[in-house]
Amino acid sequence: MSRLVVVSNRVPVPDKAGNPPAGGLAVALHAALKERGGIWMGWSGKSTGEAEPGPLSIMNNGAIQYALTDLTDRDVAEYYNGFANRVLWPICHCRIDLAEYARREMAGYFRVNRLFADRLVPLLRPDDVIWVHDYHLIPLAEELRRRGVQNRIGFFLHIPWPPADVFFSVPVYESILRGLASYDVVGFQTDYDVDNFAACLRREGSGDRIGGGRFRAYGRSFIAADFPIGMETAEFAELAEDAAHDRRIREMARSMQGRDLLIGVDRLDYSKGIPERIAAYEAFLKGNPEFQDKVVYLQVTPKSRSEVPEYAAMQENVASLAGRLNGSLGSLDWVPMRYINRSLRRPLLAGLYRMAKVGLVTPLRDGMNLVAKEFVAAQDPANPGVLVLSRFAGAARELDSALLINPHDAEGTGRAIARALSMPLAERKERWEHMMKRLLSHDVTHWCADYLSHLEPQRPTLVPEP
Ligand code: UDP
Repeated sequence: MSRLVVVSNRVPVPDKAGNPPAGGLAVALHAALKERGGIWMGWSGKSTGEAEPGPLSIMNNGAIQYALTDLTDRDVAEYYNGFANRVLWPICHCRIDLAEYARREMAGYFRVNRLFADRLVPLLRPDDVIWVHDYHLIPLAEELRRRGVQNRIGFFLHIPWPPADVFFSVPVYESILRGLASYDVVGFQTDYDVDNFAACLRREGSGDRIGGGRFRAYGRSFIAADFPIGMETAEFAELAEDAAHDRRIREMARSMQGRDLLIGVDRLDYSKGIPERIAAYEAFLKGNPEFQDKVVYLQVTPKSRSEVPEYAAMQENVASLAGRLNGSLGSLDWVPMRYINRSLRRPLLAGLYRMAKVGLVTPLRDGMNLVAKEFVAAQDPANPGVLVLSRFAGAARELDSALLINPHDAEGTGRAIARALSMPLAERKERWEHMMKRLLSHDVTHWCADYLSHLEPQRPTLVPEP
């Protein structure tokens, strides 16, 4: 088995006791690294005012080596807050209106990818397999190839891939496409993303599918396929069951005074459709007055990317929508919506998901959406809640027994909420069992092994033809 080299923008470095941070992806990749031995490289999260970042910082933890690079303040502004989060993120989430193209930032993005390549090459061995994660590092394989690296290199995109017309609005779209063609395996979350990617190559005349999951583009042949990411299903279900003993969960249950809980959990991000969800909840309460005073909607929304102006504006917008809703519909002893603007730990989240009758996951566009999967995994098998899920989340491709909604349709989503709250136990169980089965058989360990089996050298069979 080859040694594994993982590269991602940020590295989930373990605590002093050697435990990786919570969360399925970090745990699964650490397990794969532990088994094979290897390196996890990425940005330390620190920046410096100097013209050049200092040397790589290397930490060893058993079979795993962490290689962290600082960046300059300019790198962070251009590569991270600039091109990655103000161009690629909005474009991949189909928000051309929010993309801010600046040549300097695009150049900074490619410059940081060159820095990563320069720093990674001396650490590599000839038979390592390299697995690069997410939109921050698309050009990395091409840069490594330029430096003579012939190893197998894979890429996984955690966010969606947009339709060709949307993607072509990025001025350097061709460099991005060529960058992807430098990998041996390009993984997407869903078959829709693979189709969009294929359409980009075809429309450009630069490549196409050649069968068996393979593509040919820019003179190279590579695999591009969907590998929907999973979660640590069994462990999370256990966390949720244990949460019944948690004092905070019991207090929360008491504070509900017999009302039903609806829950939404999202980073504060425009892709998550939080204003649309509040509008749908309002439509539900107005259209079904018998539910007023009988339900509470809890929205947990940690802040994110506050340096990017759209995110700061959104914080004000959501807070004012929540305030307006409570002001207009609340009563002396009923607050229809509780809004928490900070991050909760996974055991507490697991308990809240389990307490909720309805999970509201209504992104306008999302690569996968792990919250949808966590909500399902956390349910009590004897009395499961109902997932109301946007059809524009990658998770909807797998969780088709959820109540699938269009988040742009407030009244339709409102009706789905009413249906979820009134759904008979037998139907809830049937839908939940179907989804849970899928989550157990396609957990994050399965995802990791499946992807790596495609990346290993001399893989005899390829992804089957659809
Ligand atoms: N999460 C958390 N605490 C919070 C809110 C979210 O631990 O207060 C976790 C959540 O459990 C999930 C992840 O953050 O595992 C969010 O992943 P998702 O795919 O839903 O969205 P992303 O933030 O990656 O766009």
